[in-house]
Amino acid sequence: MESDAGIPEKPTRRLSLSALGDFRILGEYLRPHRGRFTAAIVASSVSMAFGLLFPFLAGFLIDAAVPSAKTTAAGGPALTVGGTALLLTLTLAVQAVLMFFSSYWFQQAGECTVVRLRETLYRHLISLPMEFFGKHRVGELTSRLSTDLSLIHDLLIHVTPQIIRQTALLVGGAVIITLTSFRLSLVMVGSFPVLVLVAILFGKRIRKASRLAQDQLAESTTTVVETLQGIVNVKAFSNEGFESGRYGGQLRDYLATALRSARLRAALISFVILGIIGSLVLVLWYGARLMQTGELSAGEMARFVFCTMFVGGAVSSFAEVFSLLQRTLGATERVRELLNEPQEPELTATPDSPRLRGEVELRDLSFRYPSRPDLPVLQGITMKAHAGEKIALVGPSGAGKSTLVSLLLRFYEPESGELLFDNRPASAYTLGETRSCMALVPQEVLLFGGSIRDNIAYGRPGASEEEILEAARRANCHEFASRLPEGYDTLVGERGVQLSGGQRQRVAIARALLRDPAILILDEATSSLDSESESLIQQALATLLEGRTSFIIAHRLSTIRNADRIYVLEGGRIAESGTHAELTARPEGVYRRLHDLQVDPGQ
Ligand code: ATP
Repeated sequence: MESDAGIPEKPTRRLSLSALGDFRILGEYLRPHRGRFTAAIVASSVSMAFGLLFPFLAGFLIDAAVPSAKTTAAGGPALTVGGTALLLTLTLAVQAVLMFFSSYWFQQAGECTVVRLRETLYRHLISLPMEFFGKHRVGELTSRLSTDLSLIHDLLIHVTPQIIRQTALLVGGAVIITLTSFRLSLVMVGSFPVLVLVAILFGKRIRKASRLAQDQLAESTTTVVETLQGIVNVKAFSNEGFESGRYGGQLRDYLATALRSARLRAALISFVILGIIGSLVLVLWYGARLMQTGELSAGEMARFVFCTMFVGGAVSSFAEVFSLLQRTLGATERVRELLNEPQEPELTATPDSPRLRGEVELRDLSFRYPSRPDLPVLQGITMKAHAGEKIALVGPSGAGKSTLVSLLLRFYEPESGELLFDNRPASAYTLGETRSCMALVPQEVLLFGGSIRDNIAYGRPGASEEEILEAARRANCHEFASRLPEGYDTLVGERGVQLSGGQRQRVAIARALLRDPAILILDEATSSLDSESESLIQQALATLLEGRTSFIIAHRLSTIRNADRIYVLEGGRIAESGTHAELTARPEGVYRRLHDLQVDPGQ
């Protein structure tokens, strides 16, 4: 189910047996560490058994010190004070050692599982087709990698041990109290149903409120991520106030829900405490009467009270565990959905993949975006580029130029028609094979947080230092990079803010040169640069274009005068094609009109 913004709605599934099956996916990731996990479960259960020896022995200790009617009748206490104290110390020591191992093993298995899941999820995410990224927001996807996996992390590391420990205490405690005094335990158990009923009713409302609060917080996080990503726009439009207001509004909504949930929780806690202490008072009163009649010794009474506390604690902690399980179920479901999204096939090229010569042909190709099936974006496109030719794509905004190059990069499948590389249909090659022979120099160059060297090497990870420097020299990067105090080691910000637009473009050209592609796609920058940077870029581009098939989305017609062929797109169709001279010679042509509209600095 999806909302308008494309965010899948948070599932509100109940915790049922079939829903629990969703945790199976965790089982798959846990499998390599199952030895550790099982050992942790065993250690934890045994340690709890030792924990239960505590109230048991404490009872003996008290009976050894305080003779009561029952012990006297039985001929004195079973153990001495010193002996019991020694046993108590020993059990505590064993319990501590077991706790160490169970806690460490749980964490070890949990951390390893979540790291593997995180890694797989990320690898899967970036291998998903472009169509997927058109439908989902970045904030939502990052939240899956952080929030949902944190919940799964908590489940494995905190909740599971908690369930095991509390179950052991509950079962063991119940056995001990029943054996100690059956009648007293009936009194205690009798007071439980009311408590449990109230806890369930409250729990339901608390869960609803906290789920809403969670969603509201996630929504506000998306706002933060989006504004920070588009900080340039926020500042340029002086919309800091507007964004703060929007975020503040979302936070206030969250706060109102969170406080409502807090009030319910507080009421539940005070009721539970009242209930537990109340039933304890009842137990104490009845126990005292049994002691008076000699049916219960002081030690048994103490043992009973200790165990009641264990059992009560375990029961109340299950409410918390239950709500955590339910939240994690939502997270697991979202992660599973993401992992079930079909990936793009065969993204990596092998060393013996065929190397394209660079011939590209489009035959009667039509396309519409899967997200907008009513809008034909490209219709009947036929064009051919021989190896090494320079093809220019021009046309008004929205004509379909970027879409056309997305199809060349095989980000999407055409709806009809054919795309051929070296006279063979694109489908004869894997995605990795065609993409590895292509390079893209985009309009807006995104530099990754890292050094200039890292950013150039991105064109071909694993390239040698000499190759990187050679590419940098040919792209005219060397002159500015070597002048920086730290040279190629200079770090560029998340979006390369410390470099000018022209410098960023030269880094992108160096990146493409290093890749040495047969086919080059160049989305010409629209921003105008000063003439010196412009000529440095033109020089670098000339080097880059040499001997490669290139598709240039041209915004300034002056730069494509010597293209081998110009295709003019209009409304998703090829309106006309030819060389610059041929097209300008047509008095009524679209190209001629665009040409006349532009103030051509070359004239
Ligand atoms: P510009 O010069 O402004 O970049 P363009 O010629 O490159 O424009 P495209 O970006 O290819 O044009 O867009 C062509 C049409 O496809 C437009 O109507 C646009 O709204 C639509 N479009 C572009 N990208 C998508 C997308 N991811 N999903 C749906 N529709 C899209």
